[in-house]
Amino acid sequence: MKELKCQNCNSNDIEFKDGIWVCSHCGSKYVPDKNEKPQVSEEDKLIKKMIKLFEKRDKHDDIDKRMYYYGEISDCIQDILRINPKSAYAYAGKYLLDCANTYKTLEEAEKNIKMLF
Ligand SMILES: [Zn+2]
Repeated sequence: MKELKCQNCNSNDIEFKDGIWVCSHCGSKYVPDKNEKPQVSEEDKLIKKMIKLFEKRDKHDDIDKRMYYYGEISDCIQDILRINPKSAYAYAGKYLLDCANTYKTLEEAEKNIKMLF
């Protein structure tokens, strides 16, 4: 996975917000520029999207909303696997999705996964 680094503090916690790159650590802003723009791979974007979808899903109790996110997350996982068929994140996501019936939230599933190791 390609890493982004803040030129000011060296943090790699950089997010794309409202058309500019912002370092979440020190708040440095970078205007997208052909020469300077940090590159986020399509795979990384999809992984972030997948995690956000899990978080959104976990806020809902009702089955229809959760099924909606189930579909969205499945599609997202397929997109990741198209780019990188060996993506560990995609397989972790698949596993969490399979746990959907057993564990109610991502947090709960994570706890149980940690217990396995
Ligand atoms: Zn920084």
